[in-house]
Amino acid sequence: MPPRLLARLERELARGAGLVAILDYDGTLTPIVPSPRAAVLAPSVRTTLLRLAASDRARLAILSGRALADVRARVAIDNVIYGGCHGLEIQGRGLAFRHPRVRAARIVAARRTLAAGAEAIPGSRVEFKGLAVSLHYRRVALSRRRAVRDLATRVLRRVPDLALISGREVFDFVPRVRWSKGEAARWIARRAGRTLRRGRPVVVYAGDDATDEAAFAALKGRALTVRVGDGPSVAEYRVRDVRAMQAVLRRLAVALG
Ligand SMILES: [Mg+2]
Repeated sequence: MPPRLLARLERELARGAGLVAILDYDGTLTPIVPSPRAAVLAPSVRTTLLRLAASDRARLAILSGRALADVRARVAIDNVIYGGCHGLEIQGRGLAFRHPRVRAARIVAARRTLAAGAEAIPGSRVEFKGLAVSLHYRRVALSRRRAVRDLATRVLRRVPDLALISGREVFDFVPRVRWSKGEAARWIARRAGRTLRRGRPVVVYAGDDATDEAAFAALKGRALTVRVGDGPSVAEYRVRDVRAMQAVLRRLAVALG
């Protein structure tokens, strides 16, 4: 665990500040596993999250590229603010947001094109997330990956105003609305912070991939940003892995009392 990060968090919380913790899910709260369906929250992590969610000094948000209903079902804790589809949709603890410029019909059109194309690519899977749609290709033979990229290109050409987010063996098609995890995290920090009524809260954001880098950049100077794992990062702090992140969260729960 990085001693600088802990010292700073404990110092700020000791003076009575509130906490807004915004956490990514995959690779931050659960280790990366071969199938995204197998990314289950460990009971010990759930216990820590329960403590954070139950504290009247804290607001806990989980912000993921997964569909809102999916991330909510995986965490399954009340009093948590959930953000799905990279923050295009946010719900929980009295907050609700749905990006107003998302044209649902375009996502449906993208799904249709993807589904038709995926039929010819064994192992591919299309996942409809409401405000986004994903093409999973983990089970597609390496020799057929070219067809996956061609299909992605075709969708972007056919459906206007879509952006592509490249994840771990998945392509996420999202509306091009200038709203990333960065804007979503700022929205959550502001709204959730207000409900704490304790002055300026300590905001922590932790994540492990490129979409979280957007949030680290957007939160510069406003939050303690934590990169989980290696790779280049603009985050202020780094923890080695999911276990180290768990340890930080446990210390936070203790510091909140
Ligand atoms: Mg992640």
